Amino acid sequence: MRRYSAFALVREGLRQHSGWDRAWHSPTPKSRYDVVVVGAGGHGLATAYYLGKNHGIRNVAVIEKGWLGGGNTGRNTTIIRSNYLQDPSAAIYEKARSLYETLSQELNYNVMFSPRGVMMLAQTLHEVRGYKRTAEANALQGVVTEFISPARVKELCPIMHIDGPRYPVLGALWQPRGGTARHDAVAWGYARACADMGMDIIEQCEVKGVLRANGKVSGVETTRGTIACDKLAMVVAGHSSVLAEMAGFRLPIESMPLQALVSEPIKPCMDVVVMANTVHGYMSQSDKGEMVIGGGTDGYNAYTQRGSFHHIEETVRALCETFPIISRLKMLRQWGGIVDMTGDRSPIISTTPLGNCFVNCGWGTGGFKAIPGSGWAMADLVAKGEPGPLSAAFGLERFREGRFIDESVAAGVAH
Ligand SMILES: Cc1cc2nc3c(=O)[nH]c(=O)nc-3n(C[C@H](O)[C@H](O)[C@H](O)COP(=O)(O)OP(=O)(O)OC[C@H]3O[C@@H](n4cnc5c(N)ncnc54)[C@H](O)[C@@H]3O)c2cc1C
Repeated sequence: MRRYSAFALVREGLRQHSGWDRAWHSPTPKSRYDVVVVGAGGHGLATAYYLGKNHGIRNVAVIEKGWLGGGNTGRNTTIIRSNYLQDPSAAIYEKARSLYETLSQELNYNVMFSPRGVMMLAQTLHEVRGYKRTAEANALQGVVTEFISPARVKELCPIMHIDGPRYPVLGALWQPRGGTARHDAVAWGYARACADMGMDIIEQCEVKGVLRANGKVSGVETTRGTIACDKLAMVVAGHSSVLAEMAGFRLPIESMPLQALVSEPIKPCMDVVVMANTVHGYMSQSDKGEMVIGGGTDGYNAYTQRGSFHHIEETVRALCETFPIISRLKMLRQWGGIVDMTGDRSPIISTTPLGNCFVNCGWGTGGFKAIPGSGWAMADLVAKGEPGPLSAAFGLERFREGRFIDESVAAGVAH
């Protein structure tokens, strides 16, 4: 595949853009692959990419029931950070964040990573204590964060009202190299790099059944026929329990709607990402000028890719308190995704009762930031058949053994 470069842009500009290759093709599925990855979201595509790049496994198909990146990967609010409390979480999220730093160069695709800084506001004494503790843990883990004062919060984000009537800002956990990236571009960049390695990305192809023989997976039944495989990787976020049921085992996952919305575009007024977990909302400004807003999950399980109306009202009302200027903005669009929640709010990257079947899910409300690290760890697991250092703590057995990785503070509302 031809490289994208400034020179290529000029060349194509001069010949009316007639020479670009397709970023990925729409192949007819082959009858057998070494590895079938189900789900062409960021995590599935990154898994395929690192299988090829780190392990030389390239006879791989990524199967997607809709369109590439049409799940949560193309629906999230794109916040990237790694300020988690527990060591295994900090390790995998920081691996991902550090891979994001050079992902555009690595994939030869501009994923628009913008390390503009992320702050998590402390608006109760409980949060002050919690975030100070996280900052100390991060120092030991090699993750650069600091607890900053209300005055510094105001300096970094002048539109914020820090003396709110209910919840004054008492400080914040600040990660200066956290930020955002363009979500579609992350999926497209990985897809193009996978296609370049000869992998098949098969859209509009739904997995309807998992074929089993002698305690192992032998292939998948899809809407485009049967596909045999030596190994199966399930990376389908909100549909993880559905796929697991097809394979004959259960997952401790609840699927819930999570929604986001954007305002009309306005002049640049905020160049950091702010999360206000006490009032239940978070906000950043996109390159187009829209204020990108998100809140918590809906209060019930569902498979709808839309959120309930009262939740939008709740989120916006809460944010108006901290950002009074948004009370005068019109909201442009609202959408939802189906997030896969575990009880300890940490992901699952695991072997399963079927020897050659692996599962990656449970990223819940916060998996966009993890895509490169998760793909790296999952590829390692699939290639070697056993967990590596990044995934060892995230096995399914932790729910049986009570070894939870409790990240409800880091992941509860904010993403
Ligand atoms: C509104 C919202 C805001 C969010 N904000 C953030 C944020 O700011 N920061 C952050 O880090 N995270 C955020 N997240 C979470 C993040 O988006 C997800 O954790 C992440 O995108 C999950 O990626 P994935 O590749 O696992 O899943 P997905 O992108 O959902 O991909 C799974 C794919 O599997 C496909 N699939 C399902 N069933 C089948 C089947 N039977 N056959 C074939 N294909 C199938 C689906 O169509 C889908 O495309 C947010 C999520 C939402 C919904």
